[in-house]
Amino acid sequence: MSEKSKIRIYVPQNLAPDLEIALPPEQSHYLCNVMRLENGKNIRCFNDKDGEFSALIVGANKKQTILRILSLERLPQKSPDIWLVFAPLKKDRTDFLIEKAVELGVNKIIPVFTRFGITDKIRSDRVKAQLVEAVEQCERFDVPALDEISDLSSLLKNWPQSRKLFFMDETRTGQPAVDAFNAYKNQPAALLIGPEGGFAPEEAALLRRLPFVCPVSLGPRILRAETAATAALAVWQAVAGDWKE
Ligand code: SAH
Repeated sequence: MSEKSKIRIYVPQNLAPDLEIALPPEQSHYLCNVMRLENGKNIRCFNDKDGEFSALIVGANKKQTILRILSLERLPQKSPDIWLVFAPLKKDRTDFLIEKAVELGVNKIIPVFTRFGITDKIRSDRVKAQLVEAVEQCERFDVPALDEISDLSSLLKNWPQSRKLFFMDETRTGQPAVDAFNAYKNQPAALLIGPEGGFAPEEAALLRRLPFVCPVSLGPRILRAETAATAALAVWQAVAGDWKE
């Protein structure tokens, strides 16, 4: 039996055996110039509607690569219903956070601007490309949604009340993460991580007053935001997500 190709690309178009699909220039460039694949080579392609297929390169050139879809290898699987709300960090730390959030099965990412945040802008085209790359690498099917950045108060005003918002509270007075996630494990959830400067006292006070917010402690040490996001997601997956399946 032939070995599974290590190359796995996200193709949003409909996938089914015998279809031929023209890939856009960036993917063609990646396959032909970066990975140096030629006609007759096998790869894998996938999306979250149709699943993962083996595919054959039948037309390789720099501008457009044609794939012939072969057989279905895996049915798609959904990631758990967990959102991550985070305040954008410096570039390399945001990159890290995005990659790890995808690996840890986040379903939607919401950038938020808080009082001590460093920016109210996010390069969504760049982040979207990072999301797809991480999904391809970690064998997921679905690419997390990315919301526009919003400020904390409007985010909270429009919050879907039935979704628990776990507020990672650096004062460490919240419930221990395992207990908090366990208490609401059958409810849709979101994790809120502050910027390096933390939350302003009035932001923390506002959060604590809201009925859908649950303040959470991640232990006795102050974590960097990207560590807090990674740790919180891992604990949530273990307690309430798909690590038990
Ligand atoms: N500058 C702040 C720390 C901010 S850490 C201070 O010195 O107090 C960045 C974010 O990570 C915080 O806003 C919080 O959401 C999260 N975080 C870090 N350590 C945490 C902990 N022990 N418990 C809960 N959340 C934590």
